[in-house]
Amino acid sequence: MRIAIPREVVAGETRVAIIPEMLPLMIRDKHQVVVETGAGHGAGFSDDEYVEAGAVIVSQPQALYEDSDLVIKVQPPAMHSSLQRHEAELIPEAATYIGFLAPLANRELIKMLMERKITAFSVEYIPRITRAQSMDVLSSMSTVAGYKAVLLATGRMRKMIPLLMTAAGTIPPATFLILGAGVSGLQAIATAKRLGAKVEAFDPRPLVREQVKSLGASFVEMEMPEDVETAGGYAKEQSEQFLEKEREAIRARLPRVDVVISTAQVFGKRAPVLLTEAMVRDLRPGSVIVDLAAEQGGNCELTKAGETIERHGVSIMGPVNLAATVPVDASRMYSKNVTTLFKHLYPKPGVMPDFADEIVKGCCITRAGEIVNAQISTALSRETG
Ligand code: NAD
Repeated sequence: MRIAIPREVVAGETRVAIIPEMLPLMIRDKHQVVVETGAGHGAGFSDDEYVEAGAVIVSQPQALYEDSDLVIKVQPPAMHSSLQRHEAELIPEAATYIGFLAPLANRELIKMLMERKITAFSVEYIPRITRAQSMDVLSSMSTVAGYKAVLLATGRMRKMIPLLMTAAGTIPPATFLILGAGVSGLQAIATAKRLGAKVEAFDPRPLVREQVKSLGASFVEMEMPEDVETAGGYAKEQSEQFLEKEREAIRARLPRVDVVISTAQVFGKRAPVLLTEAMVRDLRPGSVIVDLAAEQGGNCELTKAGETIERHGVSIMGPVNLAATVPVDASRMYSKNVTTLFKHLYPKPGVMPDFADEIVKGCCITRAGEIVNAQISTALSRETG
C-alpha cells in the first residue's frame, strides 16, 4: 500500500499525523510511506528523520496524493490554498482516509468523500471502549488541552500559585475550580496540583468524585442528577433545573476562586452554560476563566472561541486547538493512536479491514459512496429534514 502523509494546510495546525518513529511499523509490512516535504517541521521532525526511518519525501502535494491508497492526516480535508483545490479532491478515488473529520460540522466534505467513494475513518468516532484505549485520539488531545489550559491561566494570572512561606510573610496558594472532570479536567487538576494550587472540581458523573479526590483535589458536593451517564460512559445532557442548581453551587465558590477551567461537554450537543455574566462579576478582578468548551458554544456565556477577552476585570480565554500549541507531544500521541488504529485495520500485508468489527464499524463514516455510520447518517438526514 502507498501511504501518504501530507503537510497540514489548516492555519495554525502544527501537528503531523505520523512521526518518523512509527514508520518501521508500516514499512516492515511492505507498505511504502510518502511524506510531503516539511510535514513534520511544525512538530520538530525533519525530512531527514523521515528519510532515515524509510520514507520517501515528495515536494509537490499532487505527487504525494497521486496513486496513494491511504492518506493519513490530522485536520479534516480542507481547501489547499496554494493549489486552489480541496484536499478531498486530491485523495484518489476509492482510496482510504484516516484522520479527524468532524462529520456533523462538515456536511459538504462528507458529500465529497461519498462522491469519490472514499473509505473514510473519522478518529473522533473510534469507540471509547477498553479495547480501543490505545487508539483514543480524543483522550490524547484532551490530555494535552487540560495541561495547557493550566499554563495559559498561569500566564495570565497576576499572582503566584503555590503556598510560599517567606521572610516577607506567607503567600496563600491560588485556588482553581475545574468544571467537568473528564480527561481534560482530570489533567487540569493534576497539572494545577503539581504547581501547588488548591483545587476544587465538579462533574455530574458519580464515578468522578473518587478520581478527583485521588488527585488531591476536593469535590464540590451538590445534589447529583439521577440519569447522568450514557452506556459509553459519557455525560447525558442535564435538565435546566439541574444546571440552575449547579450554577448556584458554583456561584457560592466564585468569590474565593482565582482560576476557573471549564471543560464540561455533552457529546454531540452544545456545551452546558455553567457561568453566566452575572457570575463572572462575582469573581475577583484579575481572575481567569479558561473555557475549553469554547468550540462547542462555551461553558461561560461570554466566551468567544479563539479569543481572550476581559469583562468585569476577569480574563475569559476561549482557546481552540490547544493541542497544536504543544505539537511535539501532541503529534507523538496522535501518531501512536493512529498507527495503532492502522495496525488494527491492516494487521498483516494483504489483509483488509474487518468492517464487522466494533472499532472499524464505529469510526468508518463513508464507504463505497455511502454513509455507513448510522449515527452520522441519522443526524445528517434529520438536518436535511
Ligand atoms: P467530554 O469531553 O465529552 O466532557 C468533559 C466532561 O464534562 C465529562 O467528564 C462530563 O461528565 C462533564 N460534564 C458534562 N456535563 C457537565 C455539567 N453540567 N457540569 C460539569 N461537568 C459536566 O468527555 P471526555 O473527557 O472525553 O470523556 C468523559 C468520559 O468518557 C471519561 O471520563 C470516561 O468515562 C469515558 N471515556 C472512556 C474511555 C474508554 O473506556 N476507552 C476513554 C475516554 C473516555
